[in-house]
Amino acid sequence: PRGASLTDFAERIGVDVSSLVQMLFSLGEMVTATESVNDETFELLGEELNYVVQVVSPEDEDRELLESFDLEFGEDEGDEGDLAIRPPVVTVMGHVDHGKTKLLDALRNANVVDKEAGGITQHIGAYQVTAEVDGDERRITFIDTPGHEAFTAMRARGAQATDIAILVVAADDGVMPQTVEALNHAKAAGVPIVVAVNKIDKPEADPTKVRGQLTEYGLVPEEYGGDSMFVDVSAKSELNLDKLLEAVILTADASLDLRANPHQDAQGLVVEAHLDRGRGPVATVLVQRGTLRVGDSIVAGAGYGRVRAMLDEHGDNITEADPSRPAMVLGLTAVPGAGQTFIVVEDDRMARQIAEKRESRERAAMQAKRRVRRTLEDFMAS
Ligand code: GDP
Ligand code: MG
Repeated sequence: PRGASLTDFAERIGVDVSSLVQMLFSLGEMVTATESVNDETFELLGEELNYVVQVVSPEDEDRELLESFDLEFGEDEGDEGDLAIRPPVVTVMGHVDHGKTKLLDALRNANVVDKEAGGITQHIGAYQVTAEVDGDERRITFIDTPGHEAFTAMRARGAQATDIAILVVAADDGVMPQTVEALNHAKAAGVPIVVAVNKIDKPEADPTKVRGQLTEYGLVPEEYGGDSMFVDVSAKSELNLDKLLEAVILTADASLDLRANPHQDAQGLVVEAHLDRGRGPVATVLVQRGTLRVGDSIVAGAGYGRVRAMLDEHGDNITEADPSRPAMVLGLTAVPGAGQTFIVVEDDRMARQIAEKRESRERAAMQAKRRVRRTLEDFMAS
């Protein structure tokens, strides 16, 4: 891969980078772990390791695979007129114990009570809530996994799920290392941040201090003349949650153009997936464009199948899911990985062909990695 370092390569094949440095040294090549390595050196290493070095990235390879079926992932079909406003997709980030889970729970529960008293929410990995902004009912999608792991896992696969990040900062604790880390992740991804200054129910809460601290990191509150919205909340006392939702919508309206074509075959991301004893592979997907319908033939990672049923976050059956809507999908043959893409294709046959190609490629890559690890172990032992 162009511009990649030995560290990147080691990570990809799951080996210790120092053994690669040593192996190259023994071949007369002085390469440090972090400098970018040219193709010839990779090929030399590949020969020695009995490994076909891929100059093409897996992402490019997959793009080619889809192209060979006349498919493309990632672009809306049609023109301007086909696009419709879609809800923002939000990830909650922040330092440990600052209240990410509590906030996600509070938002989810508040919404379910609205819908149906006593209803039980399902943790399907993502959910939608509605907010009233300027008299309009607006929807917001939350990715129901706190922390930046989910965020990075999706981005690592080149798939951006998040439109807006809510950065949770406990007002009694202030800015901490993971606050800064989360902030940097969001900035690097070009994702606007709304700050939830949490735990303001606590007597020792100092929300002004949090504003001052974040200003130093370039996140300047609107009330100080900056362009970030800060909202004081209490996830525990369910205080100002409506204001937080409003801030998300206002931020989306001010700085993002969130539109998608709902009138095409659906595409999107797998948020979460597992094997259910009774129902088989179950995947929660986030529709990014198009409308997903029961009966559609889909490929999700190396799994495929016809959508047998779809459930929403209330556990209710739904027949279709439009852009930004999360849905739990039943009917796949295999469990896809979180962050992998799904795409609706013409029929089951095409779905199976794509899935089988992906699977055999995954298997080959795994075998190659095992072989490399063995060769390296032998080399280190000699
Ligand atoms: P996470 O690690 O960021 O997911 O944090 P949690 O949501 O697990 O919360 C950590 C602790 O802070 C738990 O004991 C919560 O009950 C508590 N907590 C979260 N939000 C609030 C809040 O608004 N006020 C108070 N007083 N406690 C809170
Ligand atoms: Mg948590």
